Amino acid sequence: MDRHRDGLTKALSIFRYNAGSCNGCDAECLALWGPRYDLERLGFRRAPSPRQADILFVTGVVTTRAAKNLRHLYEQMASPKGVVAVGVCAVSGGLFRRSSSFAGPLDALLPVDVYLPGCPPRPEALIEGLTRMVLRWEDEGGSEGREGS
Ligand code: SF4
Repeated sequence: MDRHRDGLTKALSIFRYNAGSCNGCDAECLALWGPRYDLERLGFRRAPSPRQADILFVTGVVTTRAAKNLRHLYEQMASPKGVVAVGVCAVSGGLFRRSSSFAGPLDALLPVDVYLPGCPPRPEALIEGLTRMVLRWEDEGGSEGREGS
C-alpha cells in the first residue's frame, strides 16, 4: 500500500468477519455504509474478500472454529494491514468467555490495532476507532513505519 507521511493516498478497504456474533455488531458495521454514515465518503470501502482488504473487522465471540478461519483470513491480507475488534465479544469474549467453544480474545490470535468494546459499539465509535488507527499509521510514517503485521 502506498502510504506516506502526508496522508493516505488511496481509499482503504474493510473486510468484516463474523466470528460468532449475535449480529448486533454486524448490523452496526453495515450501518456505516448506509445513507446516514456513508463511510465511503471518508475513504473507507467494503472489500469483497480479505485479499483486497487493508482492514479486518472482527465481530462476535471467537469460537474455536472461527479461530482457524481468522488466521487463514489474516494471512490472505497484504501487509500492512489493520485489525479492529468490534464489540466486547471480540475484545474479551464478553458473556461467553466461559463457554467451552471460546477460543480466546481476538488479540490472542491476531495483532489487534483498535479495541471497540460495547454491546454493540455505536457506528460513531467505529468511525472514531478507524480514524485513530489511520492517524497512528500516518504518525508511524505509513507503510515504511509499520511492521509487516
Ligand atoms: S458484543 Fe453484543 S452485539 Fe456484539 S456480538 Fe457480542 S452480544 Fe452481540
